[in-house]
Amino acid sequence: MKRVLNFYPGPAAIPLEAIEEAGDELVNWNNTGMSILEISHRSKQYEAVHNETKDLLRKLLQIPDDFRILMLQGGASLQFAMIPMNLLKDHETAGYIITGNFSRNAYKAANVVSKVFTAASTEKDGKFYRLPETNEIETDENAVYYHLTSNNTITGTQWKVFPDFGSVPVIADMSSDILSRKIDFKPFGLIYAGAQKNLGPAGVTVVIIKDDLVERSRGDLPDILSYKTLVSKNSLFNTPSCFSIYMMNKVLKWVKKSGGIDFIELQNRKKVELVYGLIDKYPDFFQSKIEKESRSFMNVTLRLPDEKLEESFISEAEKQGIIGLKGHRSVGGIRISMYNANGINEVNTLAQFMEDFHHKNG
Ligand code: PMP
Repeated sequence: MKRVLNFYPGPAAIPLEAIEEAGDELVNWNNTGMSILEISHRSKQYEAVHNETKDLLRKLLQIPDDFRILMLQGGASLQFAMIPMNLLKDHETAGYIITGNFSRNAYKAANVVSKVFTAASTEKDGKFYRLPETNEIETDENAVYYHLTSNNTITGTQWKVFPDFGSVPVIADMSSDILSRKIDFKPFGLIYAGAQKNLGPAGVTVVIIKDDLVERSRGDLPDILSYKTLVSKNSLFNTPSCFSIYMMNKVLKWVKKSGGIDFIELQNRKKVELVYGLIDKYPDFFQSKIEKESRSFMNVTLRLPDEKLEESFISEAEKQGIIGLKGHRSVGGIRISMYNANGINEVNTLAQFMEDFHHKNG
């Protein structure tokens, strides 16, 4: 059977090699006579995968020694709540930079826990087409942290240079661009990401948290919500999402084998040139509302001259085995999500399709 070219925004394409390997191992994994789905999370075999996955991530992203890595459940959305629950004591506040639906959701969840403030918002008429300038961000001397979303999956904007608030840490939701480029950890106190874009399947959420934030976390939370407990138990306080972590392990090995983060970053730049190249070549046909400096390397959003053309773009693509291009319901149009598993060849095929579609309809 032929595989489709999958541009879904998440859950998204996983490297074929990782899928095939898992398929091969499903009946008898590592001579255990069972699959990873059936083995105890307290077994030595599982524990080895668990710890190796963390090591791989640490090495690939060059995560400094004073950060811990957690692999949790509940999605990025649970982190919207856990972050303020752990880090804000009574009456403490934090600044939220709102650049899209998910950062707004993070703000809403935090506001239930404590009184946080909007440090900046680029919302205009219910839409988000840009990121704030540094001088638009309001600071408060009492802020414990500033929260932002590094890549806005729905509208297609991405921070290229992160703000730095000195001794006040930045907390970033990197769900849709983690592992797409190198990270300078200096401004960050905590980075989190649901796995289902660049890291693997849904079901596991990575939290990379600096020791001093673990230290300052509240001690009066139920264990399952407490960073202190989860760090001290190595994300094995309760049953982790073993299969998702095992798949993430395979995806990380694939990244390593492909040439690591340098290769991935370079490849992502080339992919971006192909797709935005067409947007810049035919701006009246492939219409982008996103400011150039804010363009996401992961999710490209665009509109065509009318909705009929957009529908035909999506259905023509599907006929050619290219799927997942429908824009999010809140913005409409087209969205091309080109996470790491879609390499230059896949994006080239899509770019060729776009060129042909313009030729026929432009
Ligand atoms: N943040 C971002 C940037 C996202 O793209 C998403 C959607 N995957 C979420 C948060 C919500 O993630 P989850 O469904 O894992 O809670």
